[in-house]
Amino acid sequence: MSDPLPIVTRFAPSPNGSLHLGHAYSAIVAHDLARAAGGRFLLRIEDIDGPRSRAELADEFRRDLEWLGLEWEEVPAQSTRLAIYEREAARLADDGLLYPCTCTRAQIRDLPLRTGEDGFEYPGSCRGRCAGSDGEAPAFRLDVDRAMESVGEVVWRDAKKGSVIADPRAFGDVVIVRRDLPASYHLAATLDDAADGITLVTRGRDLFESTHVHRVLQELLRLPVPEWHHHDLVLDDNGEKLAKRRGSPPLADRRRAGDDGLMLAEQLRLRTFEGGT
Ligand code: GLU
Ligand code: ZN
Repeated sequence: MSDPLPIVTRFAPSPNGSLHLGHAYSAIVAHDLARAAGGRFLLRIEDIDGPRSRAELADEFRRDLEWLGLEWEEVPAQSTRLAIYEREAARLADDGLLYPCTCTRAQIRDLPLRTGEDGFEYPGSCRGRCAGSDGEAPAFRLDVDRAMESVGEVVWRDAKKGSVIADPRAFGDVVIVRRDLPASYHLAATLDDAADGITLVTRGRDLFESTHVHRVLQELLRLPVPEWHHHDLVLDDNGEKLAKRRGSPPLADRRRAGDDGLMLAEQLRLRTFEGGT
C-alpha cells in the first residue's frame, strides 16, 4: 500500500479589504488541518481583482496571520500567473466550451432569472447571441450543458457531506474569463490549487456551490482532484455572515490596539470568541 498523500492546505485571501474574524477562522482551520497531519499550509494572495487589489493589504494580512500565531509558506500571487490562465482558457475555448458575452450586469439583471447564491443565476441567454453589445471586450462563459456532456458524471469528496455529484448548474453558464481579466475567480482558483499541489481545499461553506464548478473545470482541464472541507462561518450578533462590505471590524485594528492574537486564535478554535457562534 502506498502512503496517503501529504496534506497541503491553503488560505487564499483577496487583498481588497482587511481580514476579519471570519478570515482568521478560515486561516486557522486550514493551518490546523495541515499541521495535525504533518502537512503544509500555504498562503496565496488572490490579487487579480484589478484596481480593487491593494499590495499594502497583502502585507497587513501577513502581519495578521503572524499575530494569530500561524506559520505558512507563501506561493506566488495570482497576478504572476495571468499567462497560465490565458493559456488554459484558450484550451477550453478550442474545445468549443466557451462563448463570448458582452452583457452588462444591468442587462443580465433585467433578464427573467432566479436569484442564485452568487447574486444571480445566469441562464445562458447569450449562447449564440448576446442580449447586448457595447463594442468592449467580451467575457467568456462556460457552456455548462456542453461541459457536462463532455465530462459525464463526476463526483467530489467533501469532508462533511462525503461523496457529492458535481452539479454546476446552480450558476448557469458561469463566467470563466472576465471582461477585464484573463480569468474569473473559478478558473484562477482551480488552476492555482492544482499548481500549488493543494490536496485539501478548505474554505467557508458559502463557497460550497462554487466547488461544483471547480470540480468540472478540473475534469475539463485534466487537473489533479483534491478533497474539500467547507467550514462553518463566523456569524455576527445578528446571525449574518461577516463581510467586508458590511464593515466587519478588521483584525488589524485589534492587533494595533494591542489585543492578544494568540488568545483570539484559541477562542476561535474553541468557538468561544465574542460576537460569533
Ligand atoms: N479569494 C477568495 C476569497 O477571499 C478565496 C476563496 C477560496 O478559498 O477559494 O473569498
Ligand atoms: Zn451576453
